[in-house]
Amino acid sequence: MKYITTRNEGAETFAIADAIRQGAAPDGGLFIPASFPSLDIAAFDNADGLKAIAETLLAPFFEGDRLAPDLGAICASAYNFPAPLKPVGDDGKTYVLELFHGPTGAFKDYGARFLAAAMERLRAPGAPLTVLAATSGDTGGAVGGAFEDKEGVHVGILFPKGRISPFQEHQLTCWRGGVKSFAVNADFDACQALVKQAFADKALTEELGLTSANSINLGRLMPQMGYYAESALKIWRAHGQKANYIIPTGNLGNAVACVWARGAGLPIGKVILATNANKTLEEFFATGAYEPRPSVATLANAMDVGAPNNFDRLKLFLTDDLAASGVSAASVDDATIQARIKTDYAAYDEVWCPHTATAAEILASLSDEERAAPWIIAATAHPYKFRETVEPLIGRDVDCPPAFRAILDREAHAEEITADLGSLAQGLRR
Ligand SMILES: *Cc1c(COP(=O)(O)O)cnc(C)c1O
Repeated sequence: MKYITTRNEGAETFAIADAIRQGAAPDGGLFIPASFPSLDIAAFDNADGLKAIAETLLAPFFEGDRLAPDLGAICASAYNFPAPLKPVGDDGKTYVLELFHGPTGAFKDYGARFLAAAMERLRAPGAPLTVLAATSGDTGGAVGGAFEDKEGVHVGILFPKGRISPFQEHQLTCWRGGVKSFAVNADFDACQALVKQAFADKALTEELGLTSANSINLGRLMPQMGYYAESALKIWRAHGQKANYIIPTGNLGNAVACVWARGAGLPIGKVILATNANKTLEEFFATGAYEPRPSVATLANAMDVGAPNNFDRLKLFLTDDLAASGVSAASVDDATIQARIKTDYAAYDEVWCPHTATAAEILASLSDEERAAPWIIAATAHPYKFRETVEPLIGRDVDCPPAFRAILDREAHAEEITADLGSLAQGLRR
């Protein structure tokens, strides 16, 4: 399988190993498969469980690549915790796909662990490899946890000092090995700009072997197809119908993985993108005009995105008649998120994180006719991570999962830096 870029300038093709090693495409576009495999449902007859199903789905995407012989081992490392599909209510065809059972309690653990296992194998012996990630929440924790024990790979996590919750900060700063956390005396946008500046510095990129771990990297995006495949096959086997999904969305990494799984032949019907008050996608689907804008802060802060960076990957799967594409978007504001957390706790005894609540809200707004089909909402984070928001709404404490206890028991350490490339480079060299 060959890869091209969304801009396709020069019509160059790439191996997936190189696309993962580089992260962003050299022409400024995004790497995409040159074609999609068309898998028959029968191809999964002998695949049981998340790891086996994901590996079966990913195999054609890695065919002929130098990572192909290691795909099984990479999958074993990435999919080492379950993605349970649980009924919601008692209509027998509505489910929640819990993606938060990994070490840092968010779906990003799958992609970060796959990327780390791949990068470990892509490192040239003796050559430096440094993964940089700016984070305002879940990415940094997942990346730190995934890379902690990866031989010879260094990681720099940049976060805005004093602007994230104490638990979030602990989760970014508790990793050992080659993982360093930098508390930047600036806001998140400045952290992100600093990472971009580092990549633009050719000498520094070469010296440290810089690469990125954000969701434009195929090594994070593609493994997310695995849990959509597993859950869609469960629905197909149980109901003989396609599964429809509602996915909490920010940069569109998670949702594009679902659309790609559908493109590869999995029995997936509609995909609804659930966003918070950042309305870029809702307005695009209403008007056909894509107008990125600055983000606004919401309770679902991992989705505070005004210019989703995987948009060009989604667009390739949309037809001129947007309604016929089987993809749509709807926006949910903070007051409605809060009300939905309350209502569903009372109705189903379910505790949603604020991100998951956007999907639960859209589910509740579907017509009876639509609800005749099977629906799955993706639960993207464990509610404990957002307990300051959730607990007052449900009137009780959220239980702390064991994985978080382990994180809280670790010692945390961050290095303070100012938002300039010199300080970052110095910190990375130390
Ligand atoms: C990152 C994140 C999202 C958004 O996912 P994208 O792939 O950026 O669309 C949603 N919910 C949670 C909890 C997240 O951490």
